[in-house]
Amino acid sequence: MHPKNIFSKDYDFPALIKLVPILKEHVFRNEFDRDTIKFSDNSAVKLLNKALLKSHYNIDWDLPAKSLCPPIPSRLDYLLYAADLIGKDQAKVLDIGTGANLIYPILAQAHLNWQCVGTDVDVEALRHAQSLIEKNKSLENIKLRIQKNPAKTLLGIINKEENFDLLICNPPFYKNAEEANKTNRRKVTNLKLEETETRNFGGEANELWYPGGEKSFIEKLAFESKFHARQVRWFTSLVSKKDNVYGITKSIKKAKPTDFKVIEMKQGQKISRFVAWTFF
Ligand code: SAH
Repeated sequence: MHPKNIFSKDYDFPALIKLVPILKEHVFRNEFDRDTIKFSDNSAVKLLNKALLKSHYNIDWDLPAKSLCPPIPSRLDYLLYAADLIGKDQAKVLDIGTGANLIYPILAQAHLNWQCVGTDVDVEALRHAQSLIEKNKSLENIKLRIQKNPAKTLLGIINKEENFDLLICNPPFYKNAEEANKTNRRKVTNLKLEETETRNFGGEANELWYPGGEKSFIEKLAFESKFHARQVRWFTSLVSKKDNVYGITKSIKKAKPTDFKVIEMKQGQKISRFVAWTFF
């Protein structure tokens, strides 16, 4: 994890349970004699997130039952590595596909004091995100915008006179609903979970898939980025499948950026990455 990631230490479960008492029902001792939860259980992760956001940032957070439940440490990691990239303290950020969970704008505002605009195509997701902003005074500067055309990422979102230091994006990663379901089923089998737990993986269908998957989504973003070359200093996006990096890199380079990077992040055994490009 990024050296500045405050979530790299063991969680203080007794303190977290004090804030969210029902979290207790999900905490157990593992074989290393440490308190933990089942990270494959969406409802357990949701309560953990609620407690973490309350304890670190005094934020009142919740999520509709079927929405994608984000692991907070890795979401913060992306922002910390992106902060290194832009190299400045004050930043204006655009989050493409912010989701009902609003996780990047929340962490960007609460942890880094960045100003954030979030977009989504999903009205219900935005409605929930807006309710989180209204519940928390410290989030009042976060603005949400709806993308009315699902085939676009930036069109109609960035105003003519507007500038951003950074664009972040966690794209929908599956190619279609079937692939999303299949992969979730495989995960369930690998983790030897019971059938009743499958739905706990969370993620409403439209959150998880986009025609062509993350590759098409990022290619679209790369193509559109040319038209905002002077308005956004660094464009970035997570790439969840390593195999997609090659093709995505080629598409981004077609847009002729002046600089391009693949930034790797290690969270335990897992390596994730984001691509970054600029026209400055
Ligand atoms: N940022 C959240 C959610 C990511 S899921 C997180 O990291 O947990 C991807 C999101 O992208 C979904 O909410 C989906 O509705 C949204 N999305 C799909 N197509 C989009 C588009 N063209 N423009 C903006 N958002 C889009």
